[in-house]
Amino acid sequence: MFKINIDQCIECGFCEKICPKEAIKPHSSYGYEIDINCISCGLCSKNCPVNAISKIIST
Ligand code: SF4
Ligand code: SF4
Repeated sequence: MFKINIDQCIECGFCEKICPKEAIKPHSSYGYEIDINCISCGLCSKNCPVNAISKIIST
């Protein structure tokens, strides 16, 4: 699972465009968020210009 740190996100929208599962959508207030359709491919994390997306350990 991946998570977007909205404190770092600059809302460029790139991750939303490149996610193969369309799992990234604008957050209701600010930034973007990843939903349950994420398959943890890591593409968004590799391509975020400000490194705002990181892998989290699922519990
Ligand atoms: S690619 Fe990074 S900075 Fe751009 S919208 Fe996604 S999380 Fe935010
Ligand atoms: S890890 Fe892959 S599937 Fe998950 S949100 Fe990022 S680009 Fe989409």
